[in-house]
Amino acid sequence: MAHPYHHALSSQKKWGGRVEDYLAIHAWFDASKEIIADFRHRALRHHAEGIFMAETIFGMTITLSSGRIIPTRWVGEQHVTEDLGFIPSFADWVRAIQPAPWMGRTQKIEVDLDPHSPIRELPHA
Ligand SMILES: [Zn+2]
Repeated sequence: MAHPYHHALSSQKKWGGRVEDYLAIHAWFDASKEIIADFRHRALRHHAEGIFMAETIFGMTITLSSGRIIPTRWVGEQHVTEDLGFIPSFADWVRAIQPAPWMGRTQKIEVDLDPHSPIRELPHA
């Protein structure tokens, strides 16, 4: 499994600047290893929505130490493609999850039926 540093080296080769220009983005993609140490950690951020989330966090563009400005999305697309060979959607990951009974359970929700109560309706989950 590629380390964020190796992804950053690859970014530097593509777009210049320094390895440090890219490390935070690549480390963010792989930070889900803190949750699960095997390749399934990738389900959290290694998909199209994860790439757009990186834009939200790091901005639409990054400015390299060379002064060059590149889209943050390029770095995310590079990371995910290097790891998986393509950019899946989150739906691709969901299709690989085996449904278990606990996932669909709902608890009975107490609703206050008092017409004078400020709580009239609970939002649906
Ligand atoms: Zn990764």
